Amino acid sequence: MDQSVTESIQMIAEELEIDIGSWSGKRELAFQLWKMAGVNAPARPWSPEYLHGVLKGSTAPSEIMKRAIQSLGAAIDGMDSDIAKARAVEVFVLGDVRPGTLIKGASIKCIYPPCKINFIPRDSRQRYHDKKCRAKDYKRIKTQ
Ligand SMILES: [Zn+2]
Repeated sequence: MDQSVTESIQMIAEELEIDIGSWSGKRELAFQLWKMAGVNAPARPWSPEYLHGVLKGSTAPSEIMKRAIQSLGAAIDGMDSDIAKARAVEVFVLGDVRPGTLIKGASIKCIYPPCKINFIPRDSRQRYHDKKCRAKDYKRIKTQ
């Protein structure tokens, strides 16, 4: 079992003054972790039994729970809660974007069929990643 997961849970419980020796404490901490999972959270909070299993090492925590543990730990350490909830992904930038920038928008795929580029639109109407794709797609549609 991942020792650091158990230690992180214990540290979080200590910081939040939650007694994870009790079922009500396990329920409370499972709920706090569930809230931290944000958009990735399962439909219902994790059960205290699930958290108990994770603490005992008999249940492997899901990737979502592991991330929630990291996020809640970071939030407790004073990190901004939006940053704590965010996940790191590799992106390719053309503009001036500092490392660690929080991006709140969602990426979409360019609608020109042969183009495979995903991008973050500048506004809600942008569908092509650039003018060239838009021009090629207009030409394609016209000749159909
Ligand atoms: Zn494109």
